[in-house]
Amino acid sequence: MRLTLFSRLFLGYLGIFILIIAVSVYAVIELRRFNDITRSVLEGDTRVLDYQKKLTDALLSEIRYERRFLITRDDALYDQFLLFKSDFDLYIEEAMALADARASGFLSQVKDHHQRYQDLVDQEVKYMKAGRSYPYDRYRQGKGRVADLIIAELEKLSSYSQQNTYGKIRKLAEAGSNARRAAMAITGASLIFVIVLSLFITRSITQPISILKMKTREIAKGHFESDVNLSSPPEIAELASAFNSMSQKLKDLDRMKSDFFSSMSHELRTPLTSIKEGAGLLLEGVGGALTEKQRRLLTILAEESERLIGLVNSLLDLSKMEAGMMVYNFEPTSLAPLVNRAMIEIGPLVEAKKIRLDSRIAEELPVITVDSERLLQALRNLIGNAVKFTPDGGQVTISARQRDRAVEVSVADTGPGIPAENLATIFDKFQQAASAGSYRIQGTGLGLAIVKHIITSHGGKVWAESQAGQGSTFIFVLPA
Ligand code: ADP
Repeated sequence: MRLTLFSRLFLGYLGIFILIIAVSVYAVIELRRFNDITRSVLEGDTRVLDYQKKLTDALLSEIRYERRFLITRDDALYDQFLLFKSDFDLYIEEAMALADARASGFLSQVKDHHQRYQDLVDQEVKYMKAGRSYPYDRYRQGKGRVADLIIAELEKLSSYSQQNTYGKIRKLAEAGSNARRAAMAITGASLIFVIVLSLFITRSITQPISILKMKTREIAKGHFESDVNLSSPPEIAELASAFNSMSQKLKDLDRMKSDFFSSMSHELRTPLTSIKEGAGLLLEGVGGALTEKQRRLLTILAEESERLIGLVNSLLDLSKMEAGMMVYNFEPTSLAPLVNRAMIEIGPLVEAKKIRLDSRIAEELPVITVDSERLLQALRNLIGNAVKFTPDGGQVTISARQRDRAVEVSVADTGPGIPAENLATIFDKFQQAASAGSYRIQGTGLGLAIVKHIITSHGGKVWAESQAGQGSTFIFVLPA
């Protein structure tokens, strides 16, 4: 049976709760046992000991008054004797009610001996009251012996009660240390149980989550094949099955996107190239001589189709990059030839605008691992923008230098600059700065977004520095 997360947590807490209750019940039982022993010491043995003392005192008083009475024949003394005798009898009864079997044995011996003592005193009193002589010394010795026997029995009772008390205290101490050991064992076992239980519950929750996390990362990297197979707990199993259908959907979408890109490249680029080529051929006079008006129209056609091809290319490139489908071909490359190539390509526009284009490439730049085609595309976009936005007669400077373990490339121009509030956003697609001054230059707003994708895909960083009216500098760094 697969337990749900709720049941696992519930049962776990219930287990811990039961454990706590069990430990508490054990503690209460032990405490009650201590209580019983303590009570039996206080209410039993200690009180028996008290009676032992009272009985001894009562007996000694009896003997004292009986002797005095026999000598003085004062009835008041005999009454005192009787008083102590009845005290003695009362104490015996009370003590027997508290005593255990053994102590009762001693007490009944005491009772018998006391009866014998009493009989002897009664006989003596009878003799005395009848005025008859009797063997006084024999009676005195007899009473002495019986009294000794009573005292001896009472002492036996006292030492028995004391031993009993010590025994119980020893038992209490033993029970205390047993309880301590048991409590420690129970606490240790409970701790282990709680740790194991928590580990088990936590693992049963975190393990499937970390599998899902791993699979999600794989999906983020574009591996949609991953099939998560988790059957427990049921909530996670449901999540896994939803996850699987999501990755299946993503896989389908991904395939649709690839199909879209390949068909779009073909469907858009091919006819546009044909239009451009056709216009070019017509302009070259392949279709016969052209009137001035025809030539002008064909030139516009050729330029616009060129612009459209550029736009389609940029759009497709950016979509591919955003979809993570751009394939980069990283190779160790030197930067200088790439910069030179980009400068040569922009040459005609530079000449037309009479712009001074300088390059300051540091010697012995480290070789960098890049996709040279893509890096050239980024350079083209940055240098192209700089030339595009710089007014005629201005200056564009391309610099490259090593900086720590990176290569830093900057493209500076003397154009209108970029307002501070636009510096961060111009790298977003379709974002164009409200260029300072009266410049309103046509563009797509895609170039810098492509640059940012290319540079970040190389593990680098790109940004712009500018002050409106004082030119702009675009800088990127690439790890060397
Ligand atoms: P586009 O140039 O096609 O509009 P970009 O993404 O290349 O698209 O540039 C976005 C915007 O950034 C431009 O429209 C412009 O406002 C600003 N920009 C880029 N380069 C420069 C530059 N060198 N000088 C001034 N503004 C620039």
